[in-house]
Amino acid sequence: MIDIKKYLSVVAILLVTIILGVFATNIFITSLTQLFSLLINILAELLITIIIFSTIITYNVVVDKKVNKSLMKVNFKIVNFMFPIIIAISSLVNIPRDGIRRIYIKLNNIYIYNNKYNLDPEDILILIPHCIQKSNCKFRVTSNIDNCARCGLCNICELVGLKEKRGVNVFVATGGTLARKIIIDNRPKAVIAIACERDLTSGVQEVSNIPVLGVFNKRPNGPCVDTNLDINEVEDAINFFTSK
Ligand code: SF4
Repeated sequence: MIDIKKYLSVVAILLVTIILGVFATNIFITSLTQLFSLLINILAELLITIIIFSTIITYNVVVDKKVNKSLMKVNFKIVNFMFPIIIAISSLVNIPRDGIRRIYIKLNNIYIYNNKYNLDPEDILILIPHCIQKSNCKFRVTSNIDNCARCGLCNICELVGLKEKRGVNVFVATGGTLARKIIIDNRPKAVIAIACERDLTSGVQEVSNIPVLGVFNKRPNGPCVDTNLDINEVEDAINFFTSK
């Protein structure tokens, strides 16, 4: 569930901070040159306009309104730039960061879904977190997912089935470093990443040269233990990249 109101609240705080900052600077710089004052005000107005523009686009994307693809692309670059500030503000005012990250992943996914791909299944890499595996399972699926004995107690079983049925690559990543290595070694043309909000956000930010579709894992037992996923969401993402 995505709550756009929390994102809007954080952006409003950011705008108020900028306006107050400019106001304070104007008082302070009365003793400085007119040119400097003018420059500060122009920069602040430009910044405020960009933030408002980005927020309008973000709102429309999140509420599933049709948005021009180019505008979406420009907006995603702006959001990428503002994101560390937005996350810092949400931490300061106690707004859950995961809600903000969900909006980021939605912006990323909708932008990718607005493009067309016709990839071979072997060019698609599915990255799953280790916590999808049942915590008491003794099989080492991190080295090779085919080591799964297919008892059906966790989604690894379904993912092995998907790998065989569709011919995609599936790897279990125990962290960001391994995920990066798997991507470098396999050189996919697209990635379907399954993870929590935090890991998906950092993954999408790091991999900028290929499309990364994010799928959130479900955490009925709390974070990082016995998580699960909706296999249909993963299959839908494969269908999209292969134009099926
Ligand atoms: S489905 Fe595979 S990975 Fe999951 S618990 Fe069973 S054997 Fe282990």
